[in-house]
Amino acid sequence: MRISHALQQARAQGVARLDAQLLLAHLLQRDRSWLLAHDDAVLAEDQANAWQTLLARRAAGEPLAYLVGQREFRGLMLQVSAAVLVPRPETELLVDWALELLPQAPLPQAIDLGTGSGAVALALKAAAPQLAVTATDLSAAALAVARANAARHGLDITWLEGDWWAAAIGRRFGLALSNPPYIAAGDPHLAALRHEPQAALTPGGDGLDALRALVEGAPGHLLPGAWLLLEHGHDQQAAVQALLRAAGFGPPETRTDLAGLPRCTGAPWPGG
Ligand code: GLN
Repeated sequence: MRISHALQQARAQGVARLDAQLLLAHLLQRDRSWLLAHDDAVLAEDQANAWQTLLARRAAGEPLAYLVGQREFRGLMLQVSAAVLVPRPETELLVDWALELLPQAPLPQAIDLGTGSGAVALALKAAAPQLAVTATDLSAAALAVARANAARHGLDITWLEGDWWAAAIGRRFGLALSNPPYIAAGDPHLAALRHEPQAALTPGGDGLDALRALVEGAPGHLLPGAWLLLEHGHDQQAAVQALLRAAGFGPPETRTDLAGLPRCTGAPWPGG
């Protein structure tokens, strides 16, 4: 089978052109430009067989990032597996905001709660090497992926296994951030995300349980003047702001993502 035919096959199965090119480039260990310049090259039989499998998996909705084993986040190429959520571009906003707040943080110590692939913690550390970064996850399998990513980029992070703040008992930070699971149980979007770890996507119920735990536990772990930054669903801005106010935080602020949707809400712990 020729490359041109392999790509036609992808189209026939409803796999987007760019995805097909990236998948085939991955399979052949070439880059996309090689592929485009060699569309009459012939796939070996084992490659053609592997191609059928990859195409079928992509056509069934498996994320491209899992099939190629990596995804870029804020300039860092990260290893990903089905043990972790695929890093999303909108989550870069959380890191950008944290970096803006750093000069006013009471201590150069930050914590990323529920780190998954390590994307947020690693992007923060890469952009601010002087910052001491701690990252937590309940999943040992996720932490293994995150550690491998840290090793790959030579970034030094303190990893803690445990449930939200329980992982960081007795410690206080100058900045805290999290992209927790926030999709409500029964949200129709969950079906399309079925290949990703459900515990990273939904806490069940109204989708706010993890955000509640993060806000309610924060006062015991933040220094005066430290900000808590939370990613949330496009319709959760008011709920997250109300949680922050009820817990005694200063005035909350919300930022929108590139699609113009409310995506991150944060507030300072008073006294700074
Ligand atoms: N932003 C993700 C999505 O909607 C959800 C991530 C999360 O729950 N933290 O695909």
